[in-house]
Amino acid sequence: MIDAHVHLERGPYTLEWVDRFVQTAVSRGIQELCLLEHCYMFPEFLPMYDGILGQSAYMDQWFARTNGHRDLQEYLGLVEQARGTQWPIQLRFGLEVCYFPEHEGMIRRLTEKLGLDFLVGSVHYVDGFAFDHRAEHWAGRDVDALYRRYFALSVQLAQSRLFDGIAHPDCIKLFGHAPSFSRSPWYEALAQAVAENGLYAEQSTGIARRTGAPIGMAPDLLTAMQRRGVRLLTASDAHAPEDVGLWIPQAQALLGS
Ligand SMILES: [Zn+2]
Ligand SMILES: [Zn+2]
Repeated sequence: MIDAHVHLERGPYTLEWVDRFVQTAVSRGIQELCLLEHCYMFPEFLPMYDGILGQSAYMDQWFARTNGHRDLQEYLGLVEQARGTQWPIQLRFGLEVCYFPEHEGMIRRLTEKLGLDFLVGSVHYVDGFAFDHRAEHWAGRDVDALYRRYFALSVQLAQSRLFDGIAHPDCIKLFGHAPSFSRSPWYEALAQAVAENGLYAEQSTGIARRTGAPIGMAPDLLTAMQRRGVRLLTASDAHAPEDVGLWIPQAQALLGS
């Protein structure tokens, strides 16, 4: 089993910290562990987020508290150290990058020489709206419009060729909002873009743990991905060692293999 998406962010960049994730992975039968950081941890990426600032006190406070406080070179140094160390399972190191269509050039410039094992792209913002923070932030918003833009951005992400994979596809559903229209045409379009551009897609347990949403992709999206032969990787989106590998067997079972 693989856990393709685990955040290091709450500890120091040391082999001891990495080992805590590895130990949990081993105890839960994970053979391949993909560790990463949010790109917004690093000051180099902060200009990408100019467009989301100044819209709400909540987001401005979150941004000031969370963003730009880690050292990218220190992270890359840890990756080098970890590569020179023997581990009981396969380890890979990457970056989760927020996708903003207007910043494709910046993303390319900032990521192409990092030497990481993988880059996974995420839609965390729909035209500046951080939809996955709190359910109450959806109050008064046009759910149909948010869904349309979310999927359009996800297709653009896949077509950008900036990333190896797409994180938590269709996590726009995390708080249970549903559009008035059928999502099937968007599922087909997204699956096609992911397949044509050679990305993998995550079967993620992250929002299920956070909000009680169903595990992984909607069944119809999963079917659309599988019909096109998309590589699907189970992923916990853990942000702490104790969450590594959680519900991965269930996510794997949904893949039917
Ligand atoms: Zn994410
Ligand atoms: Zn993540």
